[in-house]
Amino acid sequence: MCIFCKIIEGSIPCQKLYEDEEVLAFHDVSPQGPVHFLVIPKRHIPHILEAEQDILGNLLFRAQKIAGALGCAEKGARFVINCKADGGQTVDHLHIHVIGGRPLSWPPG
Ligand code: AMP
Repeated sequence: MCIFCKIIEGSIPCQKLYEDEEVLAFHDVSPQGPVHFLVIPKRHIPHILEAEQDILGNLLFRAQKIAGALGCAEKGARFVINCKADGGQTVDHLHIHVIGGRPLSWPPG
């Protein structure tokens, strides 16, 4: 079982921000800014490449709402989905990163 599935089942703790039937959001354990949280599907979907339209919409909508609640509405934030090796994905369970609270550079390395 992957580490995010263990978080979903409760055997690994997380700092939960939001939960419903399909989606879980929690703070990243290694934050890259004052705001850094992850939004994941409860169903194990390894990469964005396998995800269907409805869950992608739900994840992104929830990311938007939580970013606003955490104070990112005025100055914005970075919404990122890493995918497989070239995308820098290290946990093979689809997740949206939201990083905010400081200016971020572009492009990534
Ligand atoms: P990625 O490299 O896009 O696959 O991102 C995986 C993210 O998961 C990283 O930012 C990690 O810091 C984060 N992460 C790994 N384990 C945990 C955990 N137990 N709780 C919260 N975040 C985690």
